[in-house]
Order: sequence, then C-alpha cells, then structure tokens
Amino acid sequence: MDMPTISLTMEELAEKIRDCQKCPLSQTRKKAVPGEGSHNSVVMFVGEAPGGDEDREGLPFIGRAGQLFTRILQSVQIERKDVFITNIVKCRPPQNRNPNKSEIEICLPYLESQIALINPRIIVTLGSVPTKCLLNTDDAISRLRGQWFPWLGGIKIFPMFHPSYLLRHQEATPGSPKELTWRDIQELKRMLSKI
Ligand code: SF4
Repeated sequence: MDMPTISLTMEELAEKIRDCQKCPLSQTRKKAVPGEGSHNSVVMFVGEAPGGDEDREGLPFIGRAGQLFTRILQSVQIERKDVFITNIVKCRPPQNRNPNKSEIEICLPYLESQIALINPRIIVTLGSVPTKCLLNTDDAISRLRGQWFPWLGGIKIFPMFHPSYLLRHQEATPGSPKELTWRDIQELKRMLSKI
C-alpha cells in the first residue's frame, strides 16, 4: 500500500465515492458511505463495510453495532464528532457478506486517500477484514487485537474486535470479547492522552 498525493478535498473525495461505479457493489447499494467525522482527527476507525442501516442513510456505524460502537467510545470520553469513522469498502455487500478481495482492492485507493488527507497518528481497525488487509496478514483478529503495529508514515495500527462481533458475544466474563474490548478502548485512550 502506498500513500498517494491528493489534490482533492475531503468533501470532493466523498462526492467521488458517492458517485462511484468502479466495482459491482455499486449495482446493489442504495447509498455509498464515504465516512464521517473530524478531518483533523489523530485517530481513524476503519470497519469492514456498510450494513443495511448505513446503506439506507449513507452514514457509517449507525445501526445496532454502530450504536454499541458509539457507547464504547463514550465510555472513555471519546466523541464521535472528534474522530473519523469509515470502512475499508464504501458500499454494502449483498446480504452483509464479507467484501471480497477484488472489491477491497478496487475500493482501497479511497481509504488511502482519506488517510493521506487526514494524516492520523493512529488507525484502529475494527474486525478481521480491515485488520488483515492493512497489516497484510492472515493472523486471526483474536491474536492481533489490543496490540500496536507500526505502519506507513509513522502511523500506528491498533486492531480491535468489530462491534457486531460483540453483539453476538454478550458475556462480559474475564477474557471474553467484551471484556477484552473494554481493555482495548482504555489502552487506546491511554495512547491518545500521550499524543
Ligand atoms: S465499494 Fe468502493 S469501489 Fe465499489 S462502487 Fe463502492 S465506492 Fe466504488
């Protein structure tokens, strides 16, 4: 992955994404979801792909998983408006299947452009798909989460579980996905307070 030089503004880039027809997901989506939040954020959150609610509204992380994600941020006093939230592919795959390799490859330049424009210090990958893609690994998210990985341009990548995974695993016993996520968000907050 290379960091591109960008001549567009964030809003122009978002418009380009909303009009994009580059991959077959454009045929089945209702609205592309470029992402939202602060364009000066030191941290970007990158999920997998829009779901049904996001596809209808054109906004990221607004369904049940998104609402849980907002509460996770609020638990350490991080406001959504202060960070940038997006996905590795910008259009909903049919039946919420995982985006395939080709769709990710075709869409990735948009994420690369967003990263180049925002220039964050930290990228939090949410779930297996963005984590494996950006870190170029096949390791499981359960092995990668909660660790800091050096990446391009001095950016650090911090993988966490996807909130939809937490909805499917509600227990909060020691070592459960929920409890590990509580530890991870506190670690993220600790790092942000040092920047
Ligand atoms: S997923 Fe990405 S590449 Fe495919 S149509 Fe949507 S914006 Fe374009």
